[in-house]
Amino acid sequence: KSGFITIVGRPNVGKSTFLNRVIGQKIAIMSDKAQTTRNTIQGVLTLDDAQIVFIDTPGIHKPKHKLGDFMVKLAENTLNEVDAIMFMINAEEGFGRGDQYIINRLENIKKPVYLIINKIDRIHPDKLFELITIYKDKYPFKEIVPISALEGNNVDHLLDVLKDQL
Ligand code: GDP
Ligand code: MG
Repeated sequence: KSGFITIVGRPNVGKSTFLNRVIGQKIAIMSDKAQTTRNTIQGVLTLDDAQIVFIDTPGIHKPKHKLGDFMVKLAENTLNEVDAIMFMINAEEGFGRGDQYIINRLENIKKPVYLIINKIDRIHPDKLFELITIYKDKYPFKEIVPISALEGNNVDHLLDVLKDQL
């Protein structure tokens, strides 16, 4: 099994922390560069029975300047080329405009989108329940997976879920 997965989300939600944790020393390429028009391979995770390539998708963060139709199309096409999309949010924050922007971009995407609620080590379970309640009405997520990328909580479960998607 092998496949491509992209992680989208606002800055500081924990995307790089997640990649560092799952890829660790085996990291192939790590890029925190600003958006480019091409896909950037962020890392390749090799498991016993599967290989997952994490890629960076351009155009999903709200741009400072008006994004042309071409760029929107390009970003959407890219999202349609991956096997699955991880939309990562910070559990400490509520639903905001940046999240709505990303959800709008995901609207015409036919690929499975997983909502990853990160930093659960920082919140009370009631808050997690509240977030799930809010988000599940915003988009038909394939699954909602709470994790702590920093401490590793539920990360193995997430990898199993993603593996099943390939
Ligand atoms: P990115 O911009 O989405 O790539 O976010 P980073 O991975 O750079 O993380 C931003 C900050 O959040 C860093 O200070 C991380 O240490 C912190 N962080 C990431 N994941 C977690 C988590 O699960 N729990 C906690 N408490 N902090 C986290
Ligand atoms: Mg990063």
